[in-house]
Amino acid sequence: MLLDLLLPRWCVVCARGGSQLCSSCRDALPGLTPPLCELCGAPTAWPVARCRECSGRRLAFASARAAVPYDDDVRRLVRMWKERGLRHLDDAFADVVAGRLARPDADVVTFVPPDAWRSRQRGHRPAERLARALAERWGMACEPLLERAAGAGRRQSSLTRRERLRNPAFTATAKDGRIVLVDDVYTTGATAHAAARALHATVHVVTFARTVRRA
Ligand SMILES: [Zn+2]
Ligand SMILES: [Zn+2]
Repeated sequence: MLLDLLLPRWCVVCARGGSQLCSSCRDALPGLTPPLCELCGAPTAWPVARCRECSGRRLAFASARAAVPYDDDVRRLVRMWKERGLRHLDDAFADVVAGRLARPDADVVTFVPPDAWRSRQRGHRPAERLARALAERWGMACEPLLERAAGAGRRQSSLTRRERLRNPAFTATAKDGRIVLVDDVYTTGATAHAAARALHATVHVVTFARTVRRA
């Protein structure tokens, strides 16, 4: 993008020149350190197979991990990345994720597709951009395997956008094996669950950030 080339690069956090997220601000991002829930990746007091947040819920993915907690600072950062389209943050975020999370034992990387409202905004595919940058770092192929389901006609379209986000529906290109599913933020796990269920595979969810519920 021409405009992108003309823009000077400042760190969006500390305004130092060079990159849109400088290495010291990258390192200063808070972490999600063990012990974590083995399934959903929530921080826990001790290692558990399922935690309070995910026990009793049907979750179709094998694991979910995130690089940083979705706190106020990270929320601002993610907003700049997604809404202001700061594409250089793709690589910065991918570096943070690949630096903090173990490479999942999988064969292919895919991503959560944007909802219809988002895809009308050109080039607005942050999850896909993060997935491609991560696939490169992990030496895996990145394939678009998921689509938003067209919706059950009037019933679906009568839902508000908020409701659709809460009840996402996906169709998947058939793919066996082990898949890394990339999204920007893990909030309730509902999106990851719906996408993993459509994939019918062993799915490891990887997100940049994750909502952390305080006990
Ligand atoms: Zn900085
Ligand atoms: Zn859990």
